[in-house]
Amino acid sequence: MFQTIRFVFVLSFVFMGPALGAPQQSFSDFLIRFEQKAIAAGIPKSVYKVATKDLQPDPSIKVAEGSQPEFERPIWAYLDQRITSDRINRGRAAFKRNEALFQNIGSAYGVDPYMLAAIWGVETDYGAVMNNDRYFKPVLRSLFSLVHQRRGRVKLDEAELIAALRIYAQGEAPLGGLKGSWAGALGHLQIMPSAFLTHGTDFDGDGRRDPHGSLGDALASSAKWLLGLGYQAGRDWGYEVNLPGDFDYMLAGRTKFQPVSFFERRGVTRVKNRKFMDENEQVFLYVPAGAYGPKFLMTKNYLALKGYNFADSYALAVAHLTDRLKGAGSFVADWPRDVKFLNRQQRIDLQRKLTKLGFYRDKIDGRFGPISQAALRQWQNANGHLADGFATFDVYNMILKSN
Ligand code: CA
Repeated sequence: MFQTIRFVFVLSFVFMGPALGAPQQSFSDFLIRFEQKAIAAGIPKSVYKVATKDLQPDPSIKVAEGSQPEFERPIWAYLDQRITSDRINRGRAAFKRNEALFQNIGSAYGVDPYMLAAIWGVETDYGAVMNNDRYFKPVLRSLFSLVHQRRGRVKLDEAELIAALRIYAQGEAPLGGLKGSWAGALGHLQIMPSAFLTHGTDFDGDGRRDPHGSLGDALASSAKWLLGLGYQAGRDWGYEVNLPGDFDYMLAGRTKFQPVSFFERRGVTRVKNRKFMDENEQVFLYVPAGAYGPKFLMTKNYLALKGYNFADSYALAVAHLTDRLKGAGSFVADWPRDVKFLNRQQRIDLQRKLTKLGFYRDKIDGRFGPISQAALRQWQNANGHLADGFATFDVYNMILKSN
C-alpha cells in the first residue's frame, strides 16, 4: 500500500525544484548559523538550543537534480496509482466509521467532508502510514535537513522550519511530537506548519491543537486552511464536461474564469446530461490531456486544492477521490494512454524552443505545467493547429523542426 503514497518518494531522492548544489557548510555549523535567523523570527534561544541539541540530519533526505514525480509522468498514471479500488473502498469504510465527525466538521465549516476524507486518503492513506517510522518522521529534523540542503525552494523551507519551531516553542507539541512527511507537513492531513499556526484548530475541545493525535483537529484545521485558500462553501470542485469538436481551446486556462453560461453558449455540456448547479458560477476550463482525455470546468475550490499542493495531478486526484468516496464512477472520457509522453529532456527542449520562438518566458525546468501549456497553445493557435496545449510527441517533433 505504501508504494502508492507520496512518502515513498523520499526513497527515490527526488525533490521539487533544482538543487542549489551541495550544502556549503557542515550540519553542525549550519545549526549554529541558523540560530540567529530563528531568534530574529522570535524563537527563544533556549527553545532553539533544546530543539537542536545532538540533532543529526536525516540521512535519507538528499536533494537531487530533478522534479517532483507529479510532473514526471502523465497525469493519468498518477491518478491510477493514487485512486485504486482498494483505496476507494477503505476510504468509504473510514468515512463511515467517522461519519458523525465528518458531518459535524462539514456543517461547522462548509467544506465538503468527502473532500477532507480524500485529502486524508491521498496524504496518509487514511492515517495508515502514521505509525510507520520510514514515512512518518520528526518534522523538525526533516525541515532542518531540508534547509541545510538548500533545495530550490529554500525560502519556503525556512519559513516552514520557523513555523514548526514556533509550534514547539508555544508548547503545542513535545520535541519529536511533530511528525509527518520528509517535506515537513504535519499529521493526518499533512498540513504545512505555517498553515497550522494560522488555521490549526482544537476541534475536539481537549485544550490542544493536535493534527497528529486527533483526527477531528486535523480535519478542522485543514478545512480552515482550505477556506483560507479561497474555498467556497457549498460549491463543488468542478465538473467533467464535453466540448464540441470545433471548440476554441484558447479559452482554456486557470486565469480565464467565466460564468458557466459563457461556456454553455459555446456548446459545453456536462457529461451524462447532468445539469450545472448554477449558470452564474465562475469556472475555468481545464484540459489536462488537451483534446484527448477528460475535460473539466473547474471552480475556485479546485484552485484551493492547488493551494494545498500545487501539482494539478495532486489536486485532480483529491477531487476525483472526493467523488469516488461519494459513490461516483470513474471519469467518463478515457485518458489517451497510448500517446507517447515526453521525457524530461524533451520537455526541456520544448520549453527552450518555445522560448526561442517567443511564446514562453518562464523557467526552463522540464515541468510542463499551466504556463508551458499556455505557451504551447499560443504556438498551436498561431500555426493553425488545434490549440489544446497538450504536448504529444507529434507536437514536439513539429515544433522542434519549426523556425
Ligand atoms: Ca484537540
